[in-house]
Amino acid sequence: MAILDQGPPHYKKMLPPIVQENYGKWKYHEIPSPGVLKHVGESGAALYSVRVGTPRLVSIDFIRDVCVIADEYCDGFLRWTTRNNVEFLVSDEAKLKPLLEKLEAEGYSVGGTGRSVSNIVHTQGWVHCHTPATDASGVVKAVMDDLYEYFNTMKLPAKLKMGLACCLNMCGAAHCSDIAIVGVHRTPPRINHEVIRKGTEIPSLVASCPTGAIRPDPKNKSVIVNEDKCMYCGNCYTMSPAMEIYDPKNDGIAILIGGKTSNARTSPSFSRMVIPFLPNTAPRWPETTEAIRKIIELWIANANDGERVGEWVERIGWERFFTLAELPFSDMLIDDYIFSRETFRTSAQFKY
Ligand code: SF4
Ligand code: SF4
Repeated sequence: MAILDQGPPHYKKMLPPIVQENYGKWKYHEIPSPGVLKHVGESGAALYSVRVGTPRLVSIDFIRDVCVIADEYCDGFLRWTTRNNVEFLVSDEAKLKPLLEKLEAEGYSVGGTGRSVSNIVHTQGWVHCHTPATDASGVVKAVMDDLYEYFNTMKLPAKLKMGLACCLNMCGAAHCSDIAIVGVHRTPPRINHEVIRKGTEIPSLVASCPTGAIRPDPKNKSVIVNEDKCMYCGNCYTMSPAMEIYDPKNDGIAILIGGKTSNARTSPSFSRMVIPFLPNTAPRWPETTEAIRKIIELWIANANDGERVGEWVERIGWERFFTLAELPFSDMLIDDYIFSRETFRTSAQFKY
C-alpha cells in the first residue's frame, strides 16, 4: 500500500548522539560567554550551543553556508530556533574556539543568550500574509540592527524577549513579550458589494467577525458593517477579498510592554499598550526603533538586578512609567478585559 503522507521524520532521529545519550539526564547549564550555552549531563558530557542571529528571510546560499560550517565543526548538527536564531551544536570542546573564530571572521552575529535581547519572534508581514498592517521581518531587522549592542553582550538587567505581530490576530504571540510590536489597522474594511454578490459565502463572512460587527443585508445581497463595533482586526478580509482593510495612510504600529510567559519570581503577564500608534516608515522605521530604545534605556537605568521589564514597571507603577517615558496617556490605553483593575490600575490613586 502506498504511504501518501509520511510527515516529518521523528525528531529523535535528528538529535546529535550526545543528546540521545544524555536524553533526560542533563544536570545543569551555564553561559560561558555571550551566545554560547553549555549543557552538562550527569555523565559529565558537555554540549555547547553557539547561537547566531539571522534576519529570518535568508537565501539558499546562506543556508548552504551554515550547513558547511556545521559539517566542519559540529558533525553536521545545527538547529533553527523559533526566534530565527541558528544554533551550532558542538560536542567536541576542542572545536568550540575554532568555530567562534570562524563565525567572527565570516561576519556572523553570535549572541542572544542570558541578559541580552534574543532575536525577535515574528510573523509573516508584507511578504507572506494578506492582513498585515505593517511588515514583520523588515521592522525586526531595523530594530535588531539598532539594538545590536544588547544582542552580543549580556549587560541588560535581565533577559529581554521581544515579539512582533503584523496585525491584531497576533500569530506571533506578542501578547506576552517584554516588548511587543503590533501592526494596527485604524479604519474599518471597505466593502466591495459586487465582489460579495459574485462569490462570498455570507454566513461564513458574518461568522468571521469576532465582535459581531457584520450583519447580512439581504436586500442588496451583501453585508453591512457596524463601524462602532469594528476593531479593525481584518478577520473578515481573511474570509472574503471583498472586505479590503489595508490602508497605507492609517496603518501603523503600536507598542506594548511588560508581558512574560515565565513564572520565575512573578506570575506570567500580558503585555499592555503604551504607545497606540507609530507611522509605517519603511524601510527603517526610525520612530519605532527610537521608541523601543528609549524604553530599554529607561529600564536599564531604573531596574533592579534581575528585573524583567514588566516587573520593573509593576514595582514603580504604570503612572510613573508613563511620566518617566514622557508618553502621553489616554483612557484608550487601559486594558478592557475583566482583570483590568488589578492588572493595569495599580493603585486607588491612579490619577489618569
Ligand atoms: Fe497575518 Fe496577522 Fe499573523 Fe501578520 S499577525 S502574519 S497579518 S495573521
Ligand atoms: Fe469584524 Fe474585524 Fe472585519 Fe471589523 S475588521 S468587521 S471587527 S472582522
